[in-house]
Amino acid sequence: MSILLTLFQQALLSWFQAEQRDLPWRRAYIPYQIWISEIMLQQTQMERATLFFERWLQEFPDIDSLALASEDKVLKCWEGLGYYSRARNILQCARILVRDHDGIIPSDPKSLLALPGIGPYTAGAIASIAYNRTVPLVDANISRLFARLFDIDIPLARAGKLLWQKAEELVPEGRARSFNQGLMELGALICTPKNPACRQCPLQPFCIACKEGRIAERPIPQQGKAIITIEMATGVLAHPHGNGQFFIQQRLADDVWGSLWEFPGGRLKAEEAPEQAVIREFLEETGFTVRIDRKITTTTHHYSRYKVILHCFHCLLDTRESEEFPDPILSAAQEYHWVSFAELADFAFPAGHRKLIDFMTQPSG
Ligand code: SF4
Repeated sequence: MSILLTLFQQALLSWFQAEQRDLPWRRAYIPYQIWISEIMLQQTQMERATLFFERWLQEFPDIDSLALASEDKVLKCWEGLGYYSRARNILQCARILVRDHDGIIPSDPKSLLALPGIGPYTAGAIASIAYNRTVPLVDANISRLFARLFDIDIPLARAGKLLWQKAEELVPEGRARSFNQGLMELGALICTPKNPACRQCPLQPFCIACKEGRIAERPIPQQGKAIITIEMATGVLAHPHGNGQFFIQQRLADDVWGSLWEFPGGRLKAEEAPEQAVIREFLEETGFTVRIDRKITTTTHHYSRYKVILHCFHCLLDTRESEEFPDPILSAAQEYHWVSFAELADFAFPAGHRKLIDFMTQPSG
């Protein structure tokens, strides 16, 4: 091993030992906790992931309790983190671990990769951070760090092989837990996307982009993807008996936001007004003929490259008093309930509908 490599490893390990953040999953390095934290941290800010992690552990302290949970309960606990396939994969994975692995998470990347929802990054994270196995790790923070350290002159999207190769060359035998976390921590705290704090960086003596004055050009910017705006409309249908209940339905399991609950609605068609869309969607999805009572609000939220504008209305069932109150004929859902405001808290909704509920529960909503 070269002296340079040893100095590099020592510099990073010393820095991590002194500067690492106190995070709940770093206290005991329990494999179950490392797994859950790593899945939560994908697409989620650290502070938010920490809150959700602690709440999750109260509900599901270990793999056995998770494997026994209903999908509804798991989705409810995940509500607000988005990308719900992650939660469904976690549940499926827990059940497989109990059934095939005596409830123990494997430590070798090959076995980990065979489990649902575990890709190369998560497999590397569990193997190295939970079990301290000498395997490499590459995430977004490490990619940016490497782009500068090694002055990589191709966009990161095309540099995957090179990045993993570098990670493999660098990871020290028997110290992968601290080393890999050190790389990620350095990327998150020092080698940040904008204005990296190079003066505080323990790896500055090794950094080619810093030496060459090319930090601002590394990583090579990706071609930005256009944001797609989607306009949708939804209706909060009041129970015709005026008992303060609302109609909600559970989406089909294999649909987008599968198995989450929602107020009926959908995407606006060309030239269609939001009110018309609500009336049409109710008829198509439930067989109910509704009329618009009033506008509640419009919510906006972003996920991946989509911006979703959701027009929300309060609706009434369009029946005469003498007419019998019909059951819905569900075409886009697996189940339905009439629920009170208070009961809405027990169900998991996609972000736009949760915003609507939050709006309705405000004093002025
Ligand atoms: S010297 Fe600056 S650019 Fe280079 S790795 Fe450290 S923080 Fe990043």
